[in-house]
Amino acid sequence: NAVTNGRRRVVAYQTVMRAEIERRAVVEGALARAVETNECLPHFQPQFNLESGRVFGVEALARWYHAELGWISPSEFIPIAEGNGDIVPLGWKIMETSCNEVQLLPVELTLSVNLSVAQILSDDVVGMLEECLARTGFPARRLKLEVTESTMMNDLKRIQETLSQLRALGIGISLDDFGVGYSALSYLTDFHWDEIKIDRSFAAKAVRDRKQRDVLKLVLGIAETMGSRVLVEGIETIEQRDALVEIGCKNGQGYLFGGPMAIDDITTLFFAEHSHRSLSGI
Ligand code: C2E
Ligand code: MG
Ligand code: MG
Ligand code: MG
Repeated sequence: NAVTNGRRRVVAYQTVMRAEIERRAVVEGALARAVETNECLPHFQPQFNLESGRVFGVEALARWYHAELGWISPSEFIPIAEGNGDIVPLGWKIMETSCNEVQLLPVELTLSVNLSVAQILSDDVVGMLEECLARTGFPARRLKLEVTESTMMNDLKRIQETLSQLRALGIGISLDDFGVGYSALSYLTDFHWDEIKIDRSFAAKAVRDRKQRDVLKLVLGIAETMGSRVLVEGIETIEQRDALVEIGCKNGQGYLFGGPMAIDDITTLFFAEHSHRSLSGI
């Protein structure tokens, strides 16, 4: 009857809740050690010129394989790491490892690394980056740091100042996931972004809807006025790629070209694509 059904549902709900809390505790407990023991390391997603199909850079994305739990997604462990401060050592490990690995490639690619707000607000972010570049030999002009809009909602002045100091080293600053969340026009105009990354939800919207395309065109115009380059994330189909090229998007990233992969696969991809001139069909 209804009462026992209701009670059964409550018990089922409590079981799920308990499992989620336990899982979170296990993941959180294993995280710091995973960073130390190099269980958590970067993979690299290629970034392409949409017209020529040429790879010009990669984005480092943290990947974690746990011996018992298997692959754990960044959408699960990054928020946990941001919550308990582990994001700081994790972020620097990803930074150092990816600078090292991209530096060793036989080709000169740009490297984008996500930088969390806790790293920016830590006292010595500029010194840490200088040291990282000095240790790895990676040139500042090929490094881009990605910060999300929500970062700018913290101590805005202090963050803009720190990002300016990093720009003065020659490092590029990129606004990640633009267009979702609390996008304010002033984020685009009050700071000099070297690059604006359009959130992946727009790649899909741009094929479906003419108005969405027109709005995207306006954003491209603002970016051009501000002297920022634009890269569209999450391009999954040829139709999306074509619609984006038509309105003037030059750079992209997405499963159509390749997901995050080990560094050796980036080399393979680079040379395969250069011997074909452009990806056939794409
Ligand atoms: P993000 O910086 O916006 O990175 C892009 C995400 O979109 C990645 O998810 C990537 O795998 C995924 N993606 C790429 N192409 C496509 C596509 O065509 N379709 C779809 N649906 N998704 C695509 P991932 O690797 O799961 O990372 C999620 C987020 O976690 C990242 O979003 C980033 O904000 C954060 N993250 C990852 N690694 C790090 C890190 O080392 N440090 C910090 N602070 N955050 C990180
Ligand atoms: Mg990113
Ligand atoms: Mg990001
Ligand atoms: Mg993004």
